[in-house]
Amino acid sequence: MGECVALVVAAGRGERFGGEVPKQYVGLGGEALLRRALGVFLDHPAVDAVRPVIHPGDRALFDASTAGMALMEPVAGGATRQESVRLGLESLAKAAPYAVLIHDAARPFVDAGLISRVLSALDEVPAAVPAIPVSDTLKRSALDAAPLRLAGTVDRAGLWRAQTPQAFRFADILAAHGRLADKDLTDDAAVAEEAGMAVALVAGSEDNFKVTTADDLGRARRHLGGAEIRTGMGYDVHRFGPGDHVMLCGVAVPHSAGLIGHSDADVGLHALTDALLGAIGDGDIGSHFPPTDPRWRDVPSATFLRHAGDLVIARRGAILNLDVTVICERPRLAPHRTAMIERIAEILGLAAERVSVKATTTEGLGFTGRGEGIAAQGIATIAFQ
Ligand code: MG
Repeated sequence: MGECVALVVAAGRGERFGGEVPKQYVGLGGEALLRRALGVFLDHPAVDAVRPVIHPGDRALFDASTAGMALMEPVAGGATRQESVRLGLESLAKAAPYAVLIHDAARPFVDAGLISRVLSALDEVPAAVPAIPVSDTLKRSALDAAPLRLAGTVDRAGLWRAQTPQAFRFADILAAHGRLADKDLTDDAAVAEEAGMAVALVAGSEDNFKVTTADDLGRARRHLGGAEIRTGMGYDVHRFGPGDHVMLCGVAVPHSAGLIGHSDADVGLHALTDALLGAIGDGDIGSHFPPTDPRWRDVPSATFLRHAGDLVIARRGAILNLDVTVICERPRLAPHRTAMIERIAEILGLAAERVSVKATTTEGLGFTGRGEGIAAQGIATIAFQ
């Protein structure tokens, strides 16, 4: 267990949000809102572990939304946010990290700089809260008056809007939450305050807004507007040998020869796997699945492609399209193209329209022209948000 654990609270039901799916599991730029928030903490060098707190009824949604993420086992939250945080803290009591960051999953645009700021404040004080000074003029209305009438203007000097993640020295906030479990307090800084802890205010971020209503979700989607686009390419060759079929793009194609390789020698899927790995800058198929490793002997290449697809998702990428060109004189691919496209789409969970399979010959020239083997080139385009 590390020195700093992030507790990401996603146990609410979001009554203000409406809809079937709790807001933390709603899709935002191709992934669940919760996944985005968790990813920022997982990627932060000062955060050693991330503990999600979820509603016990959301376990299946949680698992589907966070596949492939190196998270701690989630703990079940309670009836209120305060109780959920306390249960999360208590789950870390044995591990006893030095610091804990408590974050609402509904703030998906927390950034690394903000996390660093609240954590470094702990050098001086046991608690730190990111906040933004109130700049709008604040008005008070008469309670229960209809129609609404203005009942005063509030002096905004010294007023701040508190955000999360709030950072605490773990032992102090654990004790405070335990002691104040009966009180109804609005956030963890209020718990710290009530317990007499000094709480630092550090600069929050306007981008770190909370997604509470359907309108907020619209704002979040607009915020994502400009995705970063990256491409990767892959190339592969396998030599003909004895056999009665070749595996190409996940489909067994009858032929008078087979392809020699450690796995099933599917040049099409290998080129696409390398294209995906290239787009995320994560080595190549050989570095992930060394041919010297007996585990990969005769493995279907769908395993490799799916793994590369999972790595893309883990980096918050969405595959926009894949295009592969298979280069050989024989066998003829045209009769199998549709099946190949459908198979690739199936392996990666993509719509078939995002996948293209093409074939070409080299007019009898070179090793493919002489029928010594098959080559394939692949390209992948990925949007990162
Ligand atoms: Mg290969």
